[in-house]
Amino acid sequence: MSDRVDLHLHSTCSDGVLEPEALVALVAGSGVETFALTDHDTLAGQAAARAAAERHGLRCLTGIELSASWQGRTVHVVGLGVDPAAAAMSDAVAHRLGLRRERARAIAERLERAGAPGRAALDSLAGHEAPTRTHFARALVALGAAADPGAAFDRWLGRGRPAHVATRWPALEDTVREIVAAGGAAVLAHPLRYTLSAGQRRSLVAAFAEGGGAALEVVTGGAAPHQIEAALGLALRAGLAGSVGSDCHDPALAWHRPGRLAKLPEAVVPVWKRWGPATNRSL
Ligand code: AMP
Ligand code: MN
Ligand code: MN
Ligand code: MN
Repeated sequence: MSDRVDLHLHSTCSDGVLEPEALVALVAGSGVETFALTDHDTLAGQAAARAAAERHGLRCLTGIELSASWQGRTVHVVGLGVDPAAAAMSDAVAHRLGLRRERARAIAERLERAGAPGRAALDSLAGHEAPTRTHFARALVALGAAADPGAAFDRWLGRGRPAHVATRWPALEDTVREIVAAGGAAVLAHPLRYTLSAGQRRSLVAAFAEGGGAALEVVTGGAAPHQIEAALGLALRAGLAGSVGSDCHDPALAWHRPGRLAKLPEAVVPVWKRWGPATNRSL
């Protein structure tokens, strides 16, 4: 069923619930042989993930999920095989982590104004290098302001809600350039999750491909067969390779467990093969 590949996973270095070591142990136990830890806008977990991968005999690709903007919306671009020491990556990370810290303060203020415990939530995530809205959602649950994280997004943090802060992430094209400059392959994450019309989605994918993007995440955690078909069509139309990733944040959420993934359709070239040793790239 599966390709034994999972190239989209989160740890506590961003908004996952497992430390990199524990995540890699879970990945190994799930039968996956090649994985990438792809935390939001940080490479902080890479060394620990790589060391754990060696202990478990797994192939580990360097990974990151960079926040980007396209036509005023936030989109996510996974970078695979990037050199963590490349200046393009340290700049990309430093800039986005600065935006995250700034945004965390703005979210806290807006929560307070809306009558929610924003300051207490901010205090609870102080010191986290890469604060995300997920951290706020969990804090609001712990503080009794929401029943579960989904409800916190629906009531406060989601688009159009009182504590939503529009963030000027770097442009999609610049984000792809940063990943390529660091020797990596750029993958447009979960292409069907963005709220777009069919035409807008094709434009997004075309802009990504024209900008040097390598692949589309054709198989993502929880995707139904018709969604995989739709993503496959988008990839083929744009001449992109395909990637596979669970986007696991919490193994308790069954559909996003590592390795619980459909096989990548054979019609599309797997990104981990196109950018493999044959082309002499570091993936
Ligand atoms: P951020 O990058 O800080 O804006 O946070 C985005 C993250 O929030 C995503 O990667 C998801 O993990 C999480 N997220 C977004 N929307 C929801 C939602 N409706 N329910 C639960 N988690 C969400
Ligand atoms: Mn996330
Ligand atoms: Mn994402
Ligand atoms: Mn993700």
